Amino acid sequence: MLFFNELSFWERKEYLNDIDFVIIGSGIVGMSAAIFLKKRFPQAKITIFERGYLPSGASTKNAGFACFGSPTELYDDLQKNDEQKVWETFLLRYQGLQTLFSLIDKEKVDYKPCGSWDLIGDRQSDIPVDFISYLNSKTKTLLNNSDVYSDDLIATDLFGFKGFKKAYKNSLEGSVDSGKLITLLYKKTVENGIQTLFGVNLESYSEVNSEVELITNYGEMKCANLLICTNGFATKFLISDLLPARAQVMITKPIQDLKIEGTFHFDAGYYYFRNIENRILIGGGRNLNIDGETTEKFGTTDQIQDSILSLLKENILPNKRFEIDYSWSGIMGVGKEKSPIIKKVNNRVAFGVRMGGMGVAIGSEVGKKLATLF
Ligand SMILES: Cc1cc2nc3c(=O)[nH]c(=O)nc-3n(C[C@H](O)[C@H](O)[C@H](O)COP(=O)(O)OP(=O)(O)OC[C@H]3O[C@@H](n4cnc5c(N)ncnc54)[C@H](O)[C@@H]3O)c2cc1C
Repeated sequence: MLFFNELSFWERKEYLNDIDFVIIGSGIVGMSAAIFLKKRFPQAKITIFERGYLPSGASTKNAGFACFGSPTELYDDLQKNDEQKVWETFLLRYQGLQTLFSLIDKEKVDYKPCGSWDLIGDRQSDIPVDFISYLNSKTKTLLNNSDVYSDDLIATDLFGFKGFKKAYKNSLEGSVDSGKLITLLYKKTVENGIQTLFGVNLESYSEVNSEVELITNYGEMKCANLLICTNGFATKFLISDLLPARAQVMITKPIQDLKIEGTFHFDAGYYYFRNIENRILIGGGRNLNIDGETTEKFGTTDQIQDSILSLLKENILPNKRFEIDYSWSGIMGVGKEKSPIIKKVNNRVAFGVRMGGMGVAIGSEVGKKLATLF
């Protein structure tokens, strides 16, 4: 362990001195913010501090849905939130995907415009009959497309599911390879002359004499401006209406003759699954123990893993032999409001956090908006 004050002249000059922007967190938001800052300030020295040996939040652990709203999720959102806010977030998600694909080539992240299906369980209450036409009237206004959502009565049989009475299709959603996405974003930061120091953990910061002083696990250093992009891990920096939220996922081993292709939501988005070639990735069940899953600790629990597995066995792959390969978890940032926090807390420090389960879609746009605050 070599502390900052033990570094050479060359190391200090190259890596630590005269930094215009330090960004904390090398997830989708942090890297996008860095790239957009470089566009605004081509001469700026920009460094990302990432505490993990690789990005270690949600950006490399998610399901890779390029999604902006399933009918039951939007219906649920409209019950709990102001209508205008719901549609603002919807548009942010839709536009965020365009921003993401302006930074990286969608072909190179295996983008598949497969569409998505929102499944309604046999015992689940359905959305009101006129809700799909309401959604399409909104998409007509917002996206100039009145054919985004539709009833799909054959999907359940087609994919071999059991226990779902119907499905709604969203024709514009798709999927990406989240690993390739973060690798390409990282390459883009390197191409733009942005440095990333892995293993550096920000412990606290303060604004001192027109600079920001950072205390890290390697000691203290100073920079001109600070952007905190640590999503669910930002609560210790005193952001209000932000909580960590763990999400658990599992993946099967390859399955012979798998007929499932696409992205699927169930129960207002609380469960989700997709194929990755001939495997199924499935996650969800956080609503079974919201208090227990309000944590920054990675890990899985029997209660949630069992619920995902039972959905997989009984409803998704009812007639298939399959084995689980492994499970993992990721930490999101959520709040009462389902929208990101993009704000400056003083002249030199800004936060871009609270991505919820939407960061693949909104992360790059949040980074872009964050960069315009300086
Ligand atoms: C299981 C799961 C499935 C999901 N599925 C989808 C999906 O299909 N579609 C979708 O749109 N969204 C999905 N999401 C949400 C999405 O992944 C996140 O919203 C998004 O990745 C957040 O990006 P971020 O850059 O804000 O944060 P993160 O990716 O979490 O990055 C924050 C980084 O900050 C680092 N960090 C934290 N604290 C410090 C510190 N003190 N010092 C230095 N570094 C620090 C962390 O190590 C981390 O790398 C999912 C999330 C999970 C967990």
